[in-house]
Amino acid sequence: CGIIARIGHGDAAETLLSGLENLEYRGYDSAGIAVQNGSGVKVHKCSGEVSELKSQLEARPNGNMGIGHTRWSTHGPPTDENAHPHTDTVGDVAVVHNGVIENYDELKADLRSKGHEFESDTDTEVIPHLIDEYRQETGDTETAVQKTVSTLEGSYAIAAIVDGEEAVYAARKGSPLVLGLDDDEWFLASDVPAFLDFTDEVIYLEEGDLVVLEPDSYRITDLEGKPVDRATDTVDWDP
Ligand code: GLU
Repeated sequence: CGIIARIGHGDAAETLLSGLENLEYRGYDSAGIAVQNGSGVKVHKCSGEVSELKSQLEARPNGNMGIGHTRWSTHGPPTDENAHPHTDTVGDVAVVHNGVIENYDELKADLRSKGHEFESDTDTEVIPHLIDEYRQETGDTETAVQKTVSTLEGSYAIAAIVDGEEAVYAARKGSPLVLGLDDDEWFLASDVPAFLDFTDEVIYLEEGDLVVLEPDSYRITDLEGKPVDRATDTVDWDP
């Protein structure tokens, strides 16, 4: 029910965890993070609150980019397996998702027939598998994400990372997603409190926006990859 992503210089894990704590008011039956550090995508997740996830993490995983999630389950009970992030079969695409994928049943059946193996009861898990499938087909992750979100019916805010790529991919339709711009790091979150400790410069993403964050640049496009202009706002927040 709450998602966060961060890319920049220096480790991301602590920022992701504090972002998740600031999003817990949105729902918190499970929590998880995935970070990437050049030697694979590492996923840590469990049912329970963010404090439970923190206590299970003996050391913070290293990596300058990652995604995180607090779950309020719609499909599948709050178990460790159903917690986000979810991955594709080999574990090199990780995704967090807020919303409901209405056509997940038929997508899952189709992906299974192509050899994909599923580990959870969630609607979300089809997303990393679709990205993987379209990456193999097109050889390009941004195109794969465009094709994936065009295939999904329902509501989503998603953020994805891919092994070996210095980028966070994100998209929204029917669920909120806001981009946070700091001097040397970018954030994506369901709501501004997730990263307000770091920056108050934001871009509220609109329906159908797709975002690619890289360590020193970001771009926002429509679902066909055409660049779109979005204004920057300063949050006037007096908690
Ligand atoms: N539908 C997804 C699930 O049940 C996401 C729920 C959420 O927005 O937290 O895992």
